[in-house]
Amino acid sequence: MSSLALKTFAGLSHRTTAETHHTISHPKPISTHKRFIVRAGKFSPKVTGRNLRVAVVGGGPAGGAAAETLAKGGIETVLIERKMDNCKPCGGAIPLCMVGEFDLPLDIIDRRVTKMKMISPSNVAVDIGQTLKPHEYIGMVRREVLDAYLRDRAAAAGANVINGLFLKMDVPKSAGLGSDAPYVLHYTGQVALLYDAKTGGAGERRTLEVDAVIGADGANSRVAKSIGAGDYEYAIAFQERIKIPSEKMEYYENLAEMYVGDDVSPDFYGWVFPKSDHVAVGTGTVTHKGDIKKLQFATRHRARDKILGGKIIRVEAHPIPEHPRPRRLSGRVALVGDAAGYVTKCSGEGIYFAAKSGRMCAEAIVEGSENGKRMVEEGDLRKYLEKWDKTYWPTYKVLDVLQKVFYRSNPAREAFVEMCADKYVQKMTFDSYLYKKVVPGNPLDDLKLAVNTIGSLVRANALRREMEKISV
Ligand SMILES: Cc1cc2nc3c(=O)[nH]c(=O)nc-3n(C[C@H](O)[C@H](O)[C@H](O)COP(=O)(O)OP(=O)(O)OC[C@H]3O[C@@H](n4cnc5c(N)ncnc54)[C@H](O)[C@@H]3O)c2cc1C
Repeated sequence: MSSLALKTFAGLSHRTTAETHHTISHPKPISTHKRFIVRAGKFSPKVTGRNLRVAVVGGGPAGGAAAETLAKGGIETVLIERKMDNCKPCGGAIPLCMVGEFDLPLDIIDRRVTKMKMISPSNVAVDIGQTLKPHEYIGMVRREVLDAYLRDRAAAAGANVINGLFLKMDVPKSAGLGSDAPYVLHYTGQVALLYDAKTGGAGERRTLEVDAVIGADGANSRVAKSIGAGDYEYAIAFQERIKIPSEKMEYYENLAEMYVGDDVSPDFYGWVFPKSDHVAVGTGTVTHKGDIKKLQFATRHRARDKILGGKIIRVEAHPIPEHPRPRRLSGRVALVGDAAGYVTKCSGEGIYFAAKSGRMCAEAIVEGSENGKRMVEEGDLRKYLEKWDKTYWPTYKVLDVLQKVFYRSNPAREAFVEMCADKYVQKMTFDSYLYKKVVPGNPLDDLKLAVNTIGSLVRANALRREMEKISV
């Protein structure tokens, strides 16, 4: 059985002596319409003849959000993205709060999901959207649309968006307190919009000198390698986009499905998510990566009646980080999004956390540099990590524990689905997912839930023991 002990969240208690103490006034919260002005008194060197220059590597949700915030805060911002029409392998589900917090226009959201079916190993289906209010939904986006939108908005705010492949970075010998030595980025400038993997990023080799770097280049981050950030455990996720007949598509109009069971994944879940004119069918696993195609086949098989007659139009796979990297910050370089390792266990959610961490890191740079007028130092960027860990550590831990308890065997998964029928569980789960806030519960309902959970788990364990006896 998996251990429930909580591991230390990497980076939470790690501090360096590089932190400085300066007084700054509290900035107004960022809005996508206002500029971010900081008035402060700080003693790090002034940047002369120009403003602070920051490179953001990677133009996914983390990079787009970071670049927009930096540019609005008066930073000379360069965003390097290797593939402007990148179609990131992704289910594309986003929480409602992201639409508001990032001012997303409704026309970039393909579907508004209000019904979610959780389907057990024995195919018991429970509807878990019953407590949603009329205005509440899970957004379904195509990543090529969302990412391009966020990048364009960064460009409109003043960021210089470059179509290039980042290759490596020369880290100055001393990037510590008081240093203003530049980081030198090496990249190849692309002529065409499409990145050609075969040529490995042909185009003119260029260099760029910057004062600080935000690594938003995803799970295989080269920025992370450049600063020796260390590795993380990862899941491999596989997804097929399937165009199904329009009458079948009607079923998925505003409905998504999650399948659990050893057949679809030993440690994750399989999904069918609706897109504009097709469905995305996928699964993931950490422990059985070599079996991913078999697991994908089983997911498709479970949904077979509903996707019958469908045609696979795209096949995609990508790593999903399991936990933050051992190191997310070094000198004037910080990692955000998947590069840092911010995907939640259990749900595999990372889009909102990527955009949010990108924005939070950029805010720390804007504040620390007093709108680009002064050099930043590691202590300024560390403020982002401290705020991040304080805000989201409980969310990550709760989902980690849930995954360990409920995704470990088929009987536990049956118990999990049974629990999902409870309206209180649904409300707590959806409120936490949609608004990214730990929702305070009602003590009486909490007690009832605890009793029900224990009941479900006891039944699950009894069932498991019986099954083990049979297999002996
Ligand atoms: C199959 C699958 C399904 C998923 N489903 C969901 C879901 O439904 N909901 C959810 O919230 N999360 C989901 N996730 C997780 C989510 O996709 C990620 O957490 C999210 O994309 C992280 O955003 P990011 O900006 O950090 O990185 P990415 O989205 O990976 O963006 C990185 C960007 O950097 C660019 N880049 C990389 N290297 C370089 C380089 N050397 N030079 C220049 N540019 C570079 C890439 O082209 C890319 O545009 C899923 C993941 C997978 C694999």
